[in-house]
Amino acid sequence: MPSRPQLAHLTAALNELREKGTYFKLRILEDQQAPVCHYDGREVINLASNNYLGLANDPRLIEAAINATRKLGVGSGAVRTIAGTMRIHMELEEKIAAFKNVEACVVFQSGFTANAGTVSSILGKEDFILSDELNHASIIDGARLSRAKIKVFRHKDAAHCEELLKEIQNDPGKKLIITDGVFSMDGDIGPVDKLAALAEKYGAIMMVDDAHASGVLGRNGRGSVDHFGMHGRVDVQVGTLSKAIGALGGYVCGSRDLIDYLYHRARPFLFSTSHPPSVAATCIKAFEILETEPERIERLWSNTRYLQSQLQSAGFNIGGLTTPATETPITPLIIGDGRQTMEFSRALFDAGILGTGIAFPTVPEGKARVRLIVTSEHTRPQLDRALETLTTIARKAGILNAA
Ligand SMILES: *Cc1c(COP(=O)(O)O)cnc(C)c1O
Repeated sequence: MPSRPQLAHLTAALNELREKGTYFKLRILEDQQAPVCHYDGREVINLASNNYLGLANDPRLIEAAINATRKLGVGSGAVRTIAGTMRIHMELEEKIAAFKNVEACVVFQSGFTANAGTVSSILGKEDFILSDELNHASIIDGARLSRAKIKVFRHKDAAHCEELLKEIQNDPGKKLIITDGVFSMDGDIGPVDKLAALAEKYGAIMMVDDAHASGVLGRNGRGSVDHFGMHGRVDVQVGTLSKAIGALGGYVCGSRDLIDYLYHRARPFLFSTSHPPSVAATCIKAFEILETEPERIERLWSNTRYLQSQLQSAGFNIGGLTTPATETPITPLIIGDGRQTMEFSRALFDAGILGTGIAFPTVPEGKARVRLIVTSEHTRPQLDRALETLTTIARKAGILNAA
């Protein structure tokens, strides 16, 4: 159906994106989410997924999903609070709580709903949220839904966060400090240690979103709290089951009362159906693998070091000058101009490399980049092939630093 005049503003907005060169079409994956796979019929080295540990297509996880489906069916049939809490959901939550060394855990449908549902339900309009300027959209949405007053501190700037805390320290409202554990666009690590210390000093609640840290940072991928040795000092830890864990979902870890409260008040938990049993079974298996195969995480970091050092010697700007320096497998190739970035990403694709072009409004204007994420499963020859192509295409496009 052609669009009717009622939606003309949408067409106009799309045309504006086309003019700016940042309009995109969805790329379609034809097979599994693997280091080499097919998008839109083309074979590519995939440097765009969040499948950090290759678990999205691990045969043992596939087996676990199939077995759970055979035994328990394909759907849970209800929201958790009505009739949709299955034994396997509880097993997953207990598994995660034990893994993270906390009292309790609740699983949400996604990391997005875990953040938005938690932030919006634990605070009200008399309260304050102190949020890093680069925090994820799901935190921002949760903060808005809570109706609390939002104070944004400069990226990773604990001193600025403290200034903001001082301004409101005599206000009776509750305060929440929140940061990403790993920032998804630059790959740098949030100052969880400093912020948690501030939270203690000012009596604030401390919350971390570990979507990109789950399975990546800390012992066996336990996340940023483990990375900084801050066990027991972060009240709310959010993680995702959708990235390194390989399936889908989000979770919140903390005290038994926090989790009980979320059972009663978090709106995505109350009003949206729980996971199919296959997803819960998949995730349980994934945590077993994290516990028993730390070598996957070692491979992830060794691939990261290799790719990043080679990119740097080839003259790529992988952050650290006008943008934060990456400290994780997330590898931005900073280009600046949105159109040039999207063109570079398309040229890479035509040459057999999938790297996501990211422009405004996902990143600030003038800080557009192609974001690469390497996984534990990429082989050296694949990485070498990718590096060669990246360098050739970048040289043609004139985006390498004069080296
Ligand atoms: C991906 C991501 C989320 C959302 O997780 P999903 O499970 O994909 O919904 C939340 N926070 C951050 C920082 C993320 O990168």
